[in-house]
Amino acid sequence: MPAANRIHDTLIVGAGFTGLGSAIKLKKAGIDDIVIVERGTAVGGTWRDNTYPGVACDIPSLLYSYSFVKNPSWSRAYPSGAEIREHIEDMTDAHGLRPLIRFNTEITGLTFDEGRGVWTASTRRRRKFQARTVVLASGPLADHAWPDIRGIDTYRGRKIHSADWDHDYDVTGKRVAVIGTGASAVQIVPELVRKAAFVKVFQRTPGWVLPRLDVPMPGPVQTLFAAVPAAQELARQALYWGHEASATALVWDTPLTGLVARLGKAHLRAQVKDPWLRRQLTPDFTPGCKRMLISSDYYPALQRDNCKLITWPIATLSPAGIRTSDGIEHHLDAIVFATGYDVHLTGPPFPVTGLDGRSLQQEWADHAEAYKSASAHGYPNLFFMTGPNSGPGHNSLLVYVEGQIDYAVRAITTILEQNLRYLDVRAQAQARYNARLQQRLTKTTWMSGCSSWYLTADGFNASMYPGFATQYLRQMRRFRSADFDAVAHETRPRAVTSTG
Ligand code: NAP
Repeated sequence: MPAANRIHDTLIVGAGFTGLGSAIKLKKAGIDDIVIVERGTAVGGTWRDNTYPGVACDIPSLLYSYSFVKNPSWSRAYPSGAEIREHIEDMTDAHGLRPLIRFNTEITGLTFDEGRGVWTASTRRRRKFQARTVVLASGPLADHAWPDIRGIDTYRGRKIHSADWDHDYDVTGKRVAVIGTGASAVQIVPELVRKAAFVKVFQRTPGWVLPRLDVPMPGPVQTLFAAVPAAQELARQALYWGHEASATALVWDTPLTGLVARLGKAHLRAQVKDPWLRRQLTPDFTPGCKRMLISSDYYPALQRDNCKLITWPIATLSPAGIRTSDGIEHHLDAIVFATGYDVHLTGPPFPVTGLDGRSLQQEWADHAEAYKSASAHGYPNLFFMTGPNSGPGHNSLLVYVEGQIDYAVRAITTILEQNLRYLDVRAQAQARYNARLQQRLTKTTWMSGCSSWYLTADGFNASMYPGFATQYLRQMRRFRSADFDAVAHETRPRAVTSTG
């Protein structure tokens, strides 16, 4: 059968951590007819794209990795982005995933054929893929965005985005600005100050910074982890429960939140002696509302002779640099935009057409909502990774992704084994789930008044899960058949020969 007419059991969109993890678990469940489409030329997703100096994960890798793909050789508690990417490459090879991946394949639309129970994906190069089930693992932070700053197109120096680092440009001896002071910036600034003539950091909102307790992984520990995987699992569990405990301070505003604020201020006092600079760096929002910043070298970097924190608002970019609202023009050779992403809070960046021609883009235009973050009514046999309200503020994203993968594998196995045309979550079940979720969200720190990428422009929270990871995992494990409509096939789906 020509490739375009073949109906795969599962199509996975994206060969980042989540797409690859899904493939591993599907294969373990005996589902081998998988195709993974990836718009880039290599695996790794955000860890392939983010190569800025200093890139690392702010969650220890023993926890920021899959429990089912153990790596005993992490070099340190917080390894570099390059090491994480290498791990993803190794995982791809170790699990035989490479032959399943179609690189350079960007999906431009997904349509469900209710009669056949088949999803058809079209691609930018006009190819077609058909599959009975789809895992959407394209990630919410896959596209970076230039900020909407006046004059940005007039600037004549080098513009570099943190998520698309320009390695051809050598910052040595250059006058460099960094706009933004979020999770990316606090990793970039300490590296830039080592090489640049000077670095000016343009801060709009100071964040809460806690120290990063990074240590090299001793050789004997690596040997122990390799010989006794249970020992590594024990270390992972210790980290998991430590992070779980932090939810009581970061997810909800409790007396422990005050303790985190005191810790943050103590860290600031210990590292910054100048009272004026300290004042400029003191946050004025509840810890946890924006992502916590984990760094032990950001404050020291800001105090180097060749670094300066600028807190005057940016008025405009000019051909020569940045003009701030105090009237000063900062002349610069390069500007680093550590200003974040074009976050996909409203679904994947391509049209998804479900039952009766309904459009996910239209339905989610204002507010995305899903059932348990992983399914949406009217879009059967489709499973979201890092979907609406799936994010943690206190634990490893991959812990949550494992719950999503298990949910998707269970549903996909059901569809295939019971030869279902489709499995669709019921509208009432989804509405009930979200009413409760949004009500629980009102009590969280994310809704306490700061601005963050977690919220849409009108303040709706479609990104975070208001609870412990343990609660999230429990709900993902519990399958309520009453919440779904299951529609059977009389025969296996027919291939249509008109496609491709
Ligand atoms: P971000 O958290 O959205 O931070 C963007 C920064 O740019 C903020 O300081 C923001 O200021 C500033 N900014 C944006 N537009 C601006 C403008 N027009 N003028 C001046 N300042 C502007 O972006 P990010 O640091 O790239 O991080 C995004 C997410 O990526 C994180 O939350 C995290 O999920 C992920 N990440 C993770 C790691 C990790 O180690 N795991 C590392 C990096 C990133 P305001 O605060 O005032 O808006």
